[in-house]
Amino acid sequence: MVKETEAPRDPSLNDSQYIPVDREHPWRDPNHPWNSERHRSDKECYEEDCHEPAGTGWSPLWCVAHNAERMDRIDHQFDQVRALVTRG
Ligand SMILES: [Zn+2]
Repeated sequence: MVKETEAPRDPSLNDSQYIPVDREHPWRDPNHPWNSERHRSDKECYEEDCHEPAGTGWSPLWCVAHNAERMDRIDHQFDQVRALVTRG
């Protein structure tokens, strides 16, 4: 059972008013405006064997779940770059 920890969102909120639950990883949030239906393209997800509708605010090519995986990968790579740079 899903535990309700948040108040229901106001659907009239626009992108700029939206406060992400996870500020570091907004692509993981299914309620993020960039994950909303209006970003869907007319294509299927780019990932092989995935037939979910593609399109998020981050990319028109992947479905919400696969985009989140992809963004996590990219985010991790940025962390590694940051670590290299800040090591001096
Ligand atoms: Zn997919």
